Amino acid sequence: MDLSFLVRKNIQEITPYSSARDEFESTADVYLDANENPFENGVNRYPDPHHKNLLTRIAALKNIARENVILGNGSDEILDLVFRCFCNPGKDNIITTPPTYGMYKVLAKLNDVVCKEVLMTEDFSLDIEAILQAANENTKIIILCSPNNPSGNLLPASQVETLLERFKGIVLLDEAYIDFAGDFSFATRLMEFPNLFICQTLSKAWGMAGLRIGIGIASKEIIGFLQKIKPPYNINCLSLQKAEVLIQERQDFDTRLKLLLSERNRLKEALPAFSFVRKIYPSDANFLLVQFADADTMYQYLVDKGVVVRNRSTQPLCDNCLRITVGLPAENDMLLTALKNYKLEESTFY
Ligand SMILES: *Cc1c(COP(=O)(O)O)cnc(C)c1O
Repeated sequence: MDLSFLVRKNIQEITPYSSARDEFESTADVYLDANENPFENGVNRYPDPHHKNLLTRIAALKNIARENVILGNGSDEILDLVFRCFCNPGKDNIITTPPTYGMYKVLAKLNDVVCKEVLMTEDFSLDIEAILQAANENTKIIILCSPNNPSGNLLPASQVETLLERFKGIVLLDEAYIDFAGDFSFATRLMEFPNLFICQTLSKAWGMAGLRIGIGIASKEIIGFLQKIKPPYNINCLSLQKAEVLIQERQDFDTRLKLLLSERNRLKEALPAFSFVRKIYPSDANFLLVQFADADTMYQYLVDKGVVVRNRSTQPLCDNCLRITVGLPAENDMLLTALKNYKLEESTFY
């Protein structure tokens, strides 16, 4: 299946900017080609536009070929590149499935692309028929988020497969939280689904939100188009270096991940004891979506106690819901203590 017909004409025809570091790739004694400042301070040279070292490490980590991977300045940049590659402004549209990550709609607006919204079902799975019905010949991308933010659940794999098979455009699967979910990534299934685009990140389980490194995973052809249009020096050299170092500390990653998962479980088991907790949704991520009797009041109460969570109660299907990130054990204790005291204050004063 050749998907290049989906790519915007101007992108197909673009000749990428060729940077000094593109044109001369081996090592020399003296670099007088990029108008850099010659005084060494650790950052006076342009970073590697191909992110070779980090890309090699990440591809190995995910067990995918390097040619199937592109790195961006956070997943936000990867998502933006996908929009720009496939969606003609003022003409094309995408489909999202609220409640989901708010950035998709913002990026659609930014690119002058209509964002059609097809609500999830009550149990936060996909309404496949409604999604396919909403798609027309100008629908270029269906964006799915699994595990989904803010609901926390993995989407049923069979539903993702159905859309990949029946939708003739790009299925963009945002797997920002996949490391918390066990072995369910679609990243090893590129050969089965040429229209699959996966987005991952170092921001969540890998603990590098401050570095801004997003990962795009797709067919060699799609990755090739994105390489052509990405800004040449999109990841700075300090981020590249630091990410390489932190990825090598694999042991820390494993123990921390384990701890976060056991803390997620501890919160999940402690929360039902509170009379004002209505429902805890199943989570495959590092947060819990929790329905309270009165989310706005609880949100404000927690803020007053110094504990900030995310109020999602205005989102569809998230009535009275707060999204609570799993923190360190002591931080989670502070949350639980605040909730305990809420009950006390309530019975004492009201
Ligand atoms: C946090 C998050 C991301 C990560 O974005 P970065 O730009 O890589 O930090 C992507 N998608 C979803 C759904 C998220 O919640």
